[in-house]
Amino acid sequence: MSIVTRIAFQKEAVISALKVSFIVGIILNLINQADILFSLQFLRLNAFKVLLTFLVPYLVTIYSTTKTKLAFKIGEIAAISAKLHCEKCNETHTHVHKDDKIPVCPKCMENTNWKVQKIKELNLMN
Ligand SMILES: [Zn+2]
Repeated sequence: MSIVTRIAFQKEAVISALKVSFIVGIILNLINQADILFSLQFLRLNAFKVLLTFLVPYLVTIYSTTKTKLAFKIGEIAAISAKLHCEKCNETHTHVHKDDKIPVCPKCMENTNWKVQKIKELNLMN
């Protein structure tokens, strides 16, 4: 399973995305199919549209969560534990633990560009 997939299926990411999807999906369905919902003619609802209005916010949330967790910007707090390598100099490696402050590469300083090499201890759905 790829790093991105492993993060996308983390229990906390999935639960968070389901909550956003539930709330945003209801609001978007009220906006997009208000005439049908308020006239209580539920058989006229477009099931495909209903599904998409829940699916899109779910996918956007998962995408945004995954992207944020893989960013590893210097000075920020690590969202997950990982082994990183500096893509700028391609020489330095470091380990960060979840909730650690992300360090600079000693060679590149403020130009550090960390990339994930390996992820540790993910709490997966199954
Ligand atoms: Zn470097």
